[in-house]
Amino acid sequence: MTNSLYIKYRPKNFDQVSGQKIIKQILINSILENKINHGYLFYGIRGVGKTTLARIFAKSINCKNRNESYNPCNNCDSCNEINNFSSFDVIEIDAASNNGVDEIRDIKDKSNYSTTKSLYKIYIIDEIHMLSKSAFNALLKTLEEPPEKTIFLLATTEINKIPETVLSRLIILNLETLSEKEIFAKLNEIAIKENASFSDDSLKYVAKIANGSLRDAISYLETIFLYSKELNEEKITKILGILPDSLLEKYLDNKEKMVNFVQKSEIDFKNFLLILINYLTDQILEGNLKYQKLLNNLINLSINVKDPYLLKLSLINIFIGGSYSKEKETFLNKEAEKLVEEKEDYDFLEQKETDNINDLNNDELIDDNVNLDENDDIEDEKISSLSTEKEESLIIDDDPLSSQEREIEEAKTKEIENFILESKFNNLNTDFEIKKIKITEGKDEKSVITDFVNIKHYLTVLFEFDKKKTQKFIDRFNYLSSYINKKFVKKYVSCLLEGKILVSSKDSIIIFGLPNSQQYTTFKAFSLEEGFLNFIKELFGENVILLPILSSDWNKLNLIYKKLRAEDKKVVERIKIDQIVNQEIIDKYKKIFGDKLEIINT
Ligand SMILES: [Zn+2]
Repeated sequence: MTNSLYIKYRPKNFDQVSGQKIIKQILINSILENKINHGYLFYGIRGVGKTTLARIFAKSINCKNRNESYNPCNNCDSCNEINNFSSFDVIEIDAASNNGVDEIRDIKDKSNYSTTKSLYKIYIIDEIHMLSKSAFNALLKTLEEPPEKTIFLLATTEINKIPETVLSRLIILNLETLSEKEIFAKLNEIAIKENASFSDDSLKYVAKIANGSLRDAISYLETIFLYSKELNEEKITKILGILPDSLLEKYLDNKEKMVNFVQKSEIDFKNFLLILINYLTDQILEGNLKYQKLLNNLINLSINVKDPYLLKLSLINIFIGGSYSKEKETFLNKEAEKLVEEKEDYDFLEQKETDNINDLNNDELIDDNVNLDENDDIEDEKISSLSTEKEESLIIDDDPLSSQEREIEEAKTKEIENFILESKFNNLNTDFEIKKIKITEGKDEKSVITDFVNIKHYLTVLFEFDKKKTQKFIDRFNYLSSYINKKFVKKYVSCLLEGKILVSSKDSIIIFGLPNSQQYTTFKAFSLEEGFLNFIKELFGENVILLPILSSDWNKLNLIYKKLRAEDKKVVERIKIDQIVNQEIIDKYKKIFGDKLEIINT
């Protein structure tokens, strides 16, 4: 199993750390002058190097071969043990996992013993703001009378959640958000080492959308690499679903392209709207007034519409030439309400309840997983009754529209109507790839075992919904957080914690809901890793396939399902790969193909 790029290129000494000049200097000075404090707090947004710097600092302090240098040698026993997470003297605790009170109480006892072979006993505690009150009290007591030769290196993204009494005992190191230039330099280094072909502009673009977080930038890069080692803006747009400035301008001048992009995108539309507004504001400040009207419409939209799916519809509406108006908002709001109603209409769950599972409280299952209430009388005809409702909603207050304008309005709403219907079929994020194995012989690629999941596979899960299995997996999923302390699965756990199990089929294929497209992308990247597959097997107690879906698409999927069911059109499409390529299957192929077997993307 190879590590992710972020781990692979994690700096091992101070010189390799991107940015953070001032913080590095403070730490280096205290090493060189041998003035080490008992407690440090590394504070900054995610992915700027807090624990990386803490670990380098810890290595340097305890390094046996450091001599006059401030950098750790990364070669002595102490350095090696810290690099392998096996040191008894440098202990890493994730406060998010169990609120750490026991561990911290332990510290006082344990730290009275002398260190085994290092100079200092060092505790690196990540996400320190997650500690419970009693754990903070225990920490405070320890900091008030720190055991000799004990150092606390604490890291947090939320300094405001840390008690003043604790802060006053610490040296606070405020890590800066990284500049695009710094992020670009690191991406450039990685891309070269990974033999990628890329343009500077495309890397600059990735650096830009990472918003100062190096970890996010590298994880974007990794996601792109999963598909291709070639980087250009078009690929980035396609893979990450984000539109670079250079294309933004082109698309703004070509309505068809823009509408097409918005229709097909997996992006976070709230974010996209902000990017658009920022871009257009810059344009207007530069004297380009042709977008003034569009900008006004978008600003109105951003103030008035919050629902992401509705936002998407409204954006399309604006780009096909409409404008924001009170009437349209009423119409679109009705659409949103309808979507919510549809979302709440999960009668398929009730219908399948004839499976009679006594110990399962159906309401709870529903509440926990799909958020619905008793409102299940809404029929599909609601959509077809759209046009009458639309007319009603347009005739309100003092009607400011002329009949000609109204005709245009109606034509536009008709287009939206069609879009709603069509998009259900075309616009789901279901291009999900399941595990690849490549068998190579010399340089020739022999065969590839892979499967791509499409919407039919998702629908099959709904048609073959199994309540017992669903409940079993939900129960097991509840134990997920107990794994967060485990080093090698931590990243999977935090990714999975963002989502939830929606339904499982009798074949243990689970539809797994994720709130936004960034988490969806992360999930997709992880899902090809061997470690991930092994972990979910352990978590669920059997081989399962998790099919990710964005929450917004989950609603759409259900609409399609209901339509098909109403028309008695059952969809059954099996995922061909042998359940999922797990270690057993790999072993089986290894026996057959020996060294020729190469596992891709793990
Ligand atoms: Zn060393």
